Amino acid sequence: HASRTDGVDKNVWVEFTQLAADYKAVNLGQGFPDFSPPKFIQEAFCKAVSGGPIMHQYTRAFGHPPLVRSLAKFFSRIVGHEIDPLEDILVTVGAYQALFCAFQALVNEGDEVIIVEPFFDCYQPMVKMAGGKAVYVPLRPKAASGAVLSSGDWVLSAEELASKFTPRTKAVVINTPNNPIGKVYKTEELQMIADLCIKHDALCISDEVYEWLTYDGAKHVKIASLPGMWERTITVGSAGKTFSATGWKVGWAISSGHIVKHMKTIHQNTVYHCATAAQEAVAQGFEREYEVFGSPESYFQQLPAMLHLKRNKLASCLESVGLQPIITCASVSDGKSFVLLFVLWFGLATIPVSAFYSPEHSKEFDKYIRFCFVKEDSTLDAAEDILRKWS
Ligand code: PMP
Ligand code: GLN
Repeated sequence: HASRTDGVDKNVWVEFTQLAADYKAVNLGQGFPDFSPPKFIQEAFCKAVSGGPIMHQYTRAFGHPPLVRSLAKFFSRIVGHEIDPLEDILVTVGAYQALFCAFQALVNEGDEVIIVEPFFDCYQPMVKMAGGKAVYVPLRPKAASGAVLSSGDWVLSAEELASKFTPRTKAVVINTPNNPIGKVYKTEELQMIADLCIKHDALCISDEVYEWLTYDGAKHVKIASLPGMWERTITVGSAGKTFSATGWKVGWAISSGHIVKHMKTIHQNTVYHCATAAQEAVAQGFEREYEVFGSPESYFQQLPAMLHLKRNKLASCLESVGLQPIITCASVSDGKSFVLLFVLWFGLATIPVSAFYSPEHSKEFDKYIRFCFVKEDSTLDAAEDILRKWS
């Protein structure tokens, strides 16, 4: 076998999803909605698949034309830059493949990529498979007097980040809102990262798959919208997260054409394109959202409003059984053992937060576990029953 597969063979989602299935556990582990996508997009999908032969055949390699047009129209307004649908967008097989194309196309043997911890686990193996070296910088819980209660209390030190740059630094990877802790970076924090990227002529790969999931008035800001950042930022998005349809596997990367060009090279020689009908449905979804944007009819308002209630429901349940929720994680004495014990004995699956850390730092964060609340109320009730029995 090829040596690039060494050391990247373990995958937390493969492992824990199997465990949850084996033990028929209530699954608050893997982050996917157990409810249906909104009606309008389901209907768009049905219409696409019954709409004649072309929806069942290949489409444009770099993105189905209606989809790149609607993404360009929708996001130009948000990023404050005229996005060219043909040059500046690559539609991919989920955000996973957008990330893969970015690392493969932009990272050379020996390049360093700074990753902010905790991070979505695939960044590290993807950097490694591209021949790069992952360099970590942690978000640290603010050492305030009281308890750390919110993900906003996890901060990135400007000095610490600055100290990680070397002449080999190719890119910084951020994820806002962050998986697993839900932190939404403030404009000042993004500006600090942007200043360092510009100073060191580094790229920024910004994973924004949860861009609509903000609560309590927090506002998601795109780092690509800051001065001087459009031409060095690759913004990654996911229709799976956006429209609660993770199985459709439609994602995208948006960046300047001179960067996307190289990502297209990887894409055309690996998957070529993703499912035509799913792209067509997502295009219709964005057309609709463009029209209702900012109104209560918008799914991008309805989804967070619904999840906000679910978050509070789960948080008060965790509190009442003696766990300390840090929206959206909870603190226990030993995360990994707790998670395993819970699946095996109590039938409730969660995810240890240590899985989102590099081996060097995972120990420090072993006392946290992640509960996903993008679930039906009945699923959350079942989890609550289990937690009450345990406590
Ligand atoms: N980035 C983050 C932060 C994620 O949580 C996920 C998983 N949903 C992805 C990327 C991959 O997204 P997709 O399912 O669209 O491939
Ligand atoms: N992104 C999802 C999560 O954070 C799961 C990804 C996967 O299952 N591969 O839970």
